[in-house]
Amino acid sequence: MLIRRARNACLLPLKEKVLDNVACVRHFSVWESRSDSSNFEEPVISEKIKKREQLVPICEVFRKQGKKIGFTSGAFDLMHAGHADYLEKAKAMCDVLIVGVNTDDSVRSYKGPGRPFVPEDQRIRLVAALESVDFAFLFGERRNQKNIEALKPDFYIKAGDYDAGSLTSKETVEQHGGEVRIIPMLPGVSTTALAEKIAGSASSRERFREEEGAAHIERRPAKTAPALFLDRDGTINEEILYLHDVKELRILPNAIPGIKKFQDMGYRIVIISNQPGIGMGYYSKQDFYRINREILKSLSSAGILVDKIYFCPHSKSEKCECRKPGQALVQRAKEELNLDLSRSVFIGDKTSDMETGRRAGMKTVLVRSGFRGEDGEFPGEPDFRADDILDAAGQVLGAERRAEGGR
Ligand SMILES: [Mg+2]
Ligand SMILES: [Zn+2]
Repeated sequence: MLIRRARNACLLPLKEKVLDNVACVRHFSVWESRSDSSNFEEPVISEKIKKREQLVPICEVFRKQGKKIGFTSGAFDLMHAGHADYLEKAKAMCDVLIVGVNTDDSVRSYKGPGRPFVPEDQRIRLVAALESVDFAFLFGERRNQKNIEALKPDFYIKAGDYDAGSLTSKETVEQHGGEVRIIPMLPGVSTTALAEKIAGSASSRERFREEEGAAHIERRPAKTAPALFLDRDGTINEEILYLHDVKELRILPNAIPGIKKFQDMGYRIVIISNQPGIGMGYYSKQDFYRINREILKSLSSAGILVDKIYFCPHSKSEKCECRKPGQALVQRAKEELNLDLSRSVFIGDKTSDMETGRRAGMKTVLVRSGFRGEDGEFPGEPDFRADDILDAAGQVLGAERRAEGGR
């Protein structure tokens, strides 16, 4: 308090030594020792944070001094300029401004389980850090009745567009000779508006990703390169009908070393997956992303970087352009990743994968996992048949080497 006096002369003149009289030895000693050391640079925030009971005798002293006590309260979640403005105006009404900060539990009880965003110990620190605030304390009730009875403020200050008469606490305030004061909040600034803005920007990012139909967006590389196009289910991981539970994800044994071989030979790595389960509502895009994240984690721990995952979320009946063997996603990959399709390879477990590669002018490899090409949807032979991706790498890259050697 003495430190505050030195800084903020409006509160109490030094000569009053008012706190010597306070029956609260602990705080007295803190202030005393600080004023003796005359170290005015020490932070005072923690000294402004009190328990409600501790403020009772402090208020008593101020009252005897004829100081006007102002009290207000709030959650002060995501502090913004509106709070600063409001508390400044509140302080201008009184000599001592005390701010009650709702505990996490009490905020939750009236704002819902998603709030507060910021925990109580941090919220109260920010409130106490404001110059306009003299004391702050945490309280767990939803109403201010107890606070008003304990502090007996001269001004019970509220923010917003209340009609003072409608406040249930008005009577209690007046019983102690106090009055209710309402301060309008700055228009357009509120924690709720901030929260909506943040949530909006997060969901627009998500929308962007969804529109793109890809798991991540990267800048187009300057150099053209071939790509290894991979089907996901039945090729990289065990085929499970409408896979969407991470617990059921099994990466096939030779998938990772096989993909690594292609990457080491300069192939970009692209995954193209039909996910009609999304279109039919069996699972969400988020479920699909979650499986992808697990796969990407396993691959990246082996040093493999997947350039992009493209997917078609439509059911067959929607007749879209992106469902394999449709070429929309392959063409997008070609553009976005600067790919040479004629030097690229498509590996999959279904005839639709083979058809996709064939239409794009790639080499095709049918693996003996998942559907093993037995779905019978599209005719035609693949260029290679392999047990798995590692076997495919051996055959395709071996053939490339031979072709180069023979030139
Ligand atoms: Mg498949
Ligand atoms: Zn589609």
